[in-house]
Amino acid sequence: MKIAVLGTGSVGQTIAAALAALGHDVVIGTRDPRTTLARTEPGAMGGAPFAVWHAGHAGIDVATFADAAGRADVVVNATNGGGSLEALTAAGAENLSGKVLLDIANPLDFSQGFPPSLSPVNTDSLGEQIQRAFPEARVVKTLNTMTASVMVDPVSVAGGDHSVFLSGNDADAKGIVSGLLKDFGHRDIIDLGDITTARGAEMILPLWLRVWGALGTGTFNFKVAR
Ligand code: NAP
Repeated sequence: MKIAVLGTGSVGQTIAAALAALGHDVVIGTRDPRTTLARTEPGAMGGAPFAVWHAGHAGIDVATFADAAGRADVVVNATNGGGSLEALTAAGAENLSGKVLLDIANPLDFSQGFPPSLSPVNTDSLGEQIQRAFPEARVVKTLNTMTASVMVDPVSVAGGDHSVFLSGNDADAKGIVSGLLKDFGHRDIIDLGDITTARGAEMILPLWLRVWGALGTGTFNFKVAR
């Protein structure tokens, strides 16, 4: 498939590389390709500087959010939650219309320090905000409840015996996303229901952050035992 990964942080880099390794035609989207390609400082999560990462993945084109989305059949939102609506607006509603929009972003608000709070929360979610802002896109919230490396290599934790959630209004879109998750190695894919269920998936983040602090590693995931 032709897939645009919007976002150049650790999630964008990890997802883009994994999709390309699976044989997809991948383009990574950013606000300004020239500025991003010149970036030599480490990523926010301590990941490789973008220039270093891209040197090892030269087959993945770097484009503006709009160019990337315009070329793709599936668009991945791996942008900062506070900037996602801005990034997707830059991508353009016309470039998202009818497409699967796989949303990984979390609406973390660090304005009061650590741990961050969620905004929106409880009665709304970022996934819903994105679906409302782009009604012609087929938004599927998933993968936001685990760290980037586990998203694409679930077997690295407990042999893959843990859960990933799906939220979205479009059954076909969820089927396409499930296929990608299975290709990554996910086995326990739990369809929570329509996009309003993204509230639950996003509200796992406060717990995820506390488990991270307690274990001293982000390489873990949650298992829904039943
Ligand atoms: P990040 O630092 O949260 O986001 C980086 C991306 O956001 C960059 O592509 C940046 O654009 C874009 N961005 C930031 N502010 C923007 C704005 N105002 N307008 C438009 N674009 C903006 O990167 P990340 O750590 O890879 O996380 C990506 C998303 O995945 C986040 O929503 C995060 O909560 C979620 N998530 C992360 C992890 C993880 O393991 N890190 C796990 C689960 C979910 P440029 O390319 O132009 O700089």
